[in-house]
Amino acid sequence: MSIHYPGLRDRTVIVTGGSRGIGAAIVEQFVLGGANVAIADVDAQGEKLAERWRVEGHDVRFYRCDVSSGESIRKLMEAVEQDYASVDVLVNNAGIFPRGDLQSTDEALWDRVIGINLKGVYLMCQAVSPLMIRQEKGVIINIGSMHSAKGEDNTMAYAVSKGGLITLTRNLAHALSKHRIRVNCVHPGWVASEGEVARWESMGSDMDKMQPAIQAIPLGRMQTGTDIAHTVVFLSSDFADQITGQMLAVDGGGSIRK
Ligand code: NDP
Repeated sequence: MSIHYPGLRDRTVIVTGGSRGIGAAIVEQFVLGGANVAIADVDAQGEKLAERWRVEGHDVRFYRCDVSSGESIRKLMEAVEQDYASVDVLVNNAGIFPRGDLQSTDEALWDRVIGINLKGVYLMCQAVSPLMIRQEKGVIINIGSMHSAKGEDNTMAYAVSKGGLITLTRNLAHALSKHRIRVNCVHPGWVASEGEVARWESMGSDMDKMQPAIQAIPLGRMQTGTDIAHTVVFLSSDFADQITGQMLAVDGGGSIRK
C-alpha cells in the first residue's frame, strides 16, 4: 500500500547525512513520494546511492558537505541553488554518537560532537531559511534522540547536543512561523544503522548481546530507518500543516518504559 503525501511531489529536499543509515531511508521515502533529493554528507557512499536512484529516473544528487563547517555549507548552498530553484524541506539528520563520560569527553571530542550535532544544524538552518523565507513556505526536520531526555553517564556530549536541538527546534519554530516555515524534531529510538552497528562492534558487542535490551522495548523490536523516515515524510507533508515546534519520538514506546 502506498500513501500519497500531499505537498512533496517535485519539491526539493536536502537530507544531511543521507549517504547511509537512517538518512538513506529518509532519502528513499522522499524519492518514492516524488521529491527531488540533495544528499549532503561527508561520506562519498552517497554518490553511489544517488546514482542508483538516477538510473531509476529520480532526481537525487550528492553534494560533499561537512555540516560543522560554515564554508562547506556555503559551497553546498551555492551548488544546490544552481541545480534547483528552491529548497522546500531540510532534514538535519547528520550526526555522530561517540561514547564519553564527564572525564573522558575532552575538549576536542566535546567540540566535535557539538560542532556536528548542534552547530551543524544551526548553520544549515541559517543557510537554508532565507530560501524558504523567500517563498514564504518550508519545512525543517531535526533528528534528535531520546538520549536528550535521559540521565546517562556515557553519552555526555551527545546527549547535550541532542538536548540543544529541542531548544533550537522550539526557537526556530517560533521565529520562522510568520513565514509559514514549520520546524519539528523527530527522536529515533534505536536503529541498527551502519553507524550504530559499528559502535556496537567497537564495544565488542553484537545483535545477540543486545537481545535483552531489544526485548525491553515495549513494542518488542528495534526501529528501522524506514520507521523514522515515514514520520519525517509525514511531518514534511501538507498533512502536518498545523504541526510546528514539536518533538515526536519514534521509539516503540522506549521512552514510556518504567
Ligand atoms: P550513521 O552513522 O549510520 O549515518 C550518519 C551519516 O552522517 C553518515 O553518512 C556520516 O558520514 C554522516 N556524517 C557524519 N558527520 C557528518 C558531517 N560532519 N557532515 C555531514 N555528514 C556527516 O548514523 P544513523 O543513521 O544511526 O543516525 C542518523 C541520525 O539519527 C543521527 O543524528 C543520530 O544521532 C540519530 N539517532 C540515531 C539512532 C540510532 O539508533 N541509530 C538513535 C537516535 C538518534 P560517515 O559515514 O563518514 O560517518
